[in-house]
Amino acid sequence: QSRRGNGLVFCSKYMSDDEAKTALLNNVEGKPINEPRVIKYRTGTRRKHWNKNCVAIGLASGFIEPLESTSIHLIQQSIIRLMQNMPTKAIESCYQDDFNNKMRFEAENIRDFIVLHYHVTQRTDSDFWRYCKNMPIPESLAKRLELFKQSGHVYKAEQELFGEASWLQVMLGQGLVPQNYHPIVDSMSDDELKRFLESIKNHVAKKANSLPSHIDFINHYCKAK
Ligand SMILES: Cc1cc2nc3c(=O)[nH]c(=O)nc-3n(C[C@H](O)[C@H](O)[C@H](O)COP(=O)(O)OP(=O)(O)OC[C@H]3O[C@@H](n4cnc5c(N)ncnc54)[C@H](O)[C@@H]3O)c2cc1C
Repeated sequence: QSRRGNGLVFCSKYMSDDEAKTALLNNVEGKPINEPRVIKYRTGTRRKHWNKNCVAIGLASGFIEPLESTSIHLIQQSIIRLMQNMPTKAIESCYQDDFNNKMRFEAENIRDFIVLHYHVTQRTDSDFWRYCKNMPIPESLAKRLELFKQSGHVYKAEQELFGEASWLQVMLGQGLVPQNYHPIVDSMSDDELKRFLESIKNHVAKKANSLPSHIDFINHYCKAK
């Protein structure tokens, strides 16, 4: 509560360390208390999180992306799955395979969600964003995007971290609007549809009004000493 952390995530292929430092410092209000540090990372995950008697958890197992951070969730999942598969006497390969398959499933779904943020960008004002817009994407993500574009349908795999609301928020937020909608909508009159949407709006407003404001919450639970 005594300081604010600032960072800038950049791709070294499109921006030098010095350019990044300048951009970061130009966006910091007040006098910095430290020199910016460059932290390099390579995106990816280990082929096997569990190999023989060694299990990689957290940053030791890989790193996806810092802005939509998911490491803490992945750490929790690794611990839970390790407990579920805890060997009693010998380490059977079935335990490891199950663990590794589940962690790979998790990492690939998160990868798709992160790639989505960059790929569906409307920005074309730099080489970096032009690359993202046109870059090859995983087939699993291409299928999800096509489904949404064609029908407004959001696909979510069972046990996947990011829910329908998260996928929808990024897709609509980045300007991806479906070309069609479900035909059942036509069975409702405009009035019915309006009433239905208003009931959702009222429900949200009622819930929001019953909660404390952000500043009241902070003052009550974590007031600076
Ligand atoms: C500003 C910020 C915000 C974040 N926000 C989120 C978020 O909202 N959600 C989310 O899921 N994740 C978030 N993360 C990421 C997440 O917090 C980290 O990825 C996670 O804490 C990493 O945990 P770890 O145990 O793998 O690694 P670390 O926490 O880095 O632990 C590694 C430990 O190993 C020790 N160590 C290193 N080398 C040696 C050595 N040779 N011998 C002995 N010990 C050694 C280090 O001192 C350290 O204690 C955020 C990270 C940052 C920096």
